Amino acid sequence: MKSWISRPVPDVPGSMPALRLFDTAVRKEVVLDNESRPSMYVCGITPYDATHMGHASSYVAFDLLNRAWRDSGRDVAYVQNVTDVDDPLLERAEATGVDWRDLAAGQIELFQTDMEALNVLPPDHYVGAVESIGLIVPEVERLVSLGLAYTVPGTKGEPDGDVYYDVEAAGKQSVAPDAWSLGCISGLAESEMLELFAERGGDPGRAGKRQALDPLLWRVAREGEPSWPGGSLGAGRPGWHIECTVIAQKYLPSPFTVQGGGSDLIFPHHEMGAGHAYSLAGVPLAKHYAHAGMVGLDGEKMSKSKGNLVLVSKLRAAGEEPAAIRLGILAHHYRSDWSWTNEGFEEAKATLAAWRRALAHAPAGSAAPLVAEMRAALAADLNAPAAIAAVSRWAEQANADGGPASPADQALVKDAVDALLGVLL
Ligand code: ZN
Repeated sequence: MKSWISRPVPDVPGSMPALRLFDTAVRKEVVLDNESRPSMYVCGITPYDATHMGHASSYVAFDLLNRAWRDSGRDVAYVQNVTDVDDPLLERAEATGVDWRDLAAGQIELFQTDMEALNVLPPDHYVGAVESIGLIVPEVERLVSLGLAYTVPGTKGEPDGDVYYDVEAAGKQSVAPDAWSLGCISGLAESEMLELFAERGGDPGRAGKRQALDPLLWRVAREGEPSWPGGSLGAGRPGWHIECTVIAQKYLPSPFTVQGGGSDLIFPHHEMGAGHAYSLAGVPLAKHYAHAGMVGLDGEKMSKSKGNLVLVSKLRAAGEEPAAIRLGILAHHYRSDWSWTNEGFEEAKATLAAWRRALAHAPAGSAAPLVAEMRAALAADLNAPAAIAAVSRWAEQANADGGPASPADQALVKDAVDALLGVLL
């Protein structure tokens, strides 16, 4: 599938110190290996609703990582999927009387326009679930033949043949130190897993499953639902976790460097995806798992049902500048849960204006120390608020001095803010 296009990233002299990132699976900051080609997979949207601030903030967070790597002179391999067929999409299409394909295409386009406006660097491969079904089917078949997946008989009007992943069998597959077992990514207790599994699209009560937490790999065709040929599995469509696993394994090394997403993807999505990958390849899916916090509105959880979604496209339509939206997001550390507020947005706009004013007074020799400070902040678990504070201190000083700008410092600050934070001054 076509990806979006973003502004070229300026080259900034020097480079980032060794990057530290909080790894969810080990619950601490780790120093990332000095790979020449780091690789990243960030889970994409299910295109049934416009990009809200929670999505935007998650993609902006991993864009910081992408930019930090590039600043260290590395060529980053980046893949993102789009779950262009799944229950929520089909349900929304049905409820609104729109063809599911048209709904998906329209929302993918809106998402990409939002990403482009927010200056999020595009993935090298933007891959849809539908276009990947031919790759997914043989992998599910392989899990069945390995004895790590099984079919469930139909009950209560459900047809025979849905395929589930056997988490218990998979957890016993190997005793290698890096082998997968349930809980190795999330660190959750079983009772917490059961609760989240039910909340986030799982079906713990489905009759015929070996374990309540076994996730769906293949859903056989139902009347009125789209389906594709599934070889020995029968016609149907793939589950969500196996979709990401197969796409990541196809386009990235095994293991790749970082799997990213919102913290609501830790369980079951990333836990199960890591399991599928280990079962299929005998190596972990990713070396590290990183997660962005959730975004609320004025202290409340942002959700469609509460009608309090802050949409990037709506802000743009109201004439708000995407750079200010991006700065409003970056003012919060990516791992924290935070709330979008009008006051916060006004503050971001004021900060942006102060930085722009300060460029006209950039003192000679001031840019290089500022760039070093920004890099140190970002290398420490992508601490954008600390990088922003450094630029603001610099701007305050420059505005207070009010002298003529040194062209070299002016250009370097502008390039560094663009390259590292993705904000155009
Ligand atoms: Zn995913």
